[in-house]
Amino acid sequence: MKGNCRIIAGVSFVSDLIPAVASNSVDSDTIFANNEMSLRDIEIYGFDYDYTLAFYSSHLHTLIFNIAREILISNHRYPEDLRKYEYIPNFAVRGLHYDVQKGLLMKIDAFHYIQLGTVYRGLHPVSDDEVIALYEGSHVPLEIMSDFYGKSSQGHTMKQFMDIFSLPEMTLLSCVNDFFMTHNIDYEPVHLYKDVKEAIRDVHIKGAMYRTVEADIEKYICYGEQSHAVLKKLSELGKKMFLITNSPFDFVDKGMTYIVGKDWRDLFDVVIVHADKPGFFNDRRKPFRRVTDKGTLLWDRIHRLEKGKIYKQVNYHNIGSKVLYFGDHIYSDLADLTLKHGWRTGAIIPELREEIKIMNTEQYIHMMAWLQALTGLIEQMQVHRDPVSQAVVEEWIREREAMRSQTKDIFNSQFGSLFRTYHNPTYFSRRLSRFADIYMASISCLLNYDLQHTFFPRRTPLQHESPFGPEHSPAGGAVSLQLDWTHSN
Ligand SMILES: [Mg+2]
Repeated sequence: MKGNCRIIAGVSFVSDLIPAVASNSVDSDTIFANNEMSLRDIEIYGFDYDYTLAFYSSHLHTLIFNIAREILISNHRYPEDLRKYEYIPNFAVRGLHYDVQKGLLMKIDAFHYIQLGTVYRGLHPVSDDEVIALYEGSHVPLEIMSDFYGKSSQGHTMKQFMDIFSLPEMTLLSCVNDFFMTHNIDYEPVHLYKDVKEAIRDVHIKGAMYRTVEADIEKYICYGEQSHAVLKKLSELGKKMFLITNSPFDFVDKGMTYIVGKDWRDLFDVVIVHADKPGFFNDRRKPFRRVTDKGTLLWDRIHRLEKGKIYKQVNYHNIGSKVLYFGDHIYSDLADLTLKHGWRTGAIIPELREEIKIMNTEQYIHMMAWLQALTGLIEQMQVHRDPVSQAVVEEWIREREAMRSQTKDIFNSQFGSLFRTYHNPTYFSRRLSRFADIYMASISCLLNYDLQHTFFPRRTPLQHESPFGPEHSPAGGAVSLQLDWTHSN
């Protein structure tokens, strides 16, 4: 059809459009803004630890998967043959929903529609027809969606996986589902979900993961230098800093010593471990408690926070405003801060680097330009009701449908991009734009800006507004070319 269209139109749409799009290639070190925010107004910088200051190598996901798989076998008496399943990197993406009752992993868009083609039972896709039969369409009613923090609770049968740590959890769930199905074992998906959830929780709270990482820091932690440079820069400019993490002191101490050096605590005004986020940000009842270097809890009443000391389970009220807090977990780290306390928030989304790299490829740019042009053609031409025009439009619609899987597979062949379900933003994107003032691939992106910088979101037009500015030339161009063609025929 591409050929036909070019002949009919007499212009080479896509190649005309490519230069404009290609010159807009995105730098993955950029900080992106959802909301206008000036660093001039920020006096205090707060950080989460895991996946914000400390980045982990892919070995960590294999480690979590393996320990949890062993817990299922030894503590929950799951079949030994589960050991045949190894961790599958890049099987899942963050932000997916899991239907706890039906045992299905899927991607949902900003309007609560399931993205067809991204529903998995075990390790295999479920056909669109079956999905439509199971959900009486593809819309997920609000009553069964995950709760505010993505959790599956009473009545909410969907759980949303928002944590980077949850990639091995989703993969393990899929592997065990796959095992039971391929062996025709009758099982209760709700029990399986709870067992896997418990096993993954035990990997963290029983300390096996912490011990293994501490014993081989270099294998598991990466990107240390840049986190160090950011902290140093903020410190030299006299900014106050704090660190709030759910992880235990020893683990953070070993990691930060590796990243920053043994004097790392000098950089921070306050360090809070075992914070119990997100409850941490809401619970006013839990008072500060000091922790010694050996991790022992002290009982004396705390009247003020002292620099260089470590605290546990405090609440945010003692920290003040004019704060910018960075975290990778959109709900635990950012949601309450922005909604209830008016702190500014920065989301760390490491996946951005890979996605931007793909978006900058010629293949992707070509695909998007053609998709836009095709959509414009369909939109304009659908009014022509004669059979010949209708046949052409039908053909374009089919081609646009076919392009859906290409634009998905280029990111991840199971679930596609973290940010898009075909044309719509994902549920993840919607929550991200609500809870994060700014977002970036890693904390190191801050090195590219001075601390007077103001981040401005692009003024993308609402649907009833006309587009201004160069970023809309691709779509606008496609439509105007199309209009010329319509009028000349
Ligand atoms: Mg984190």
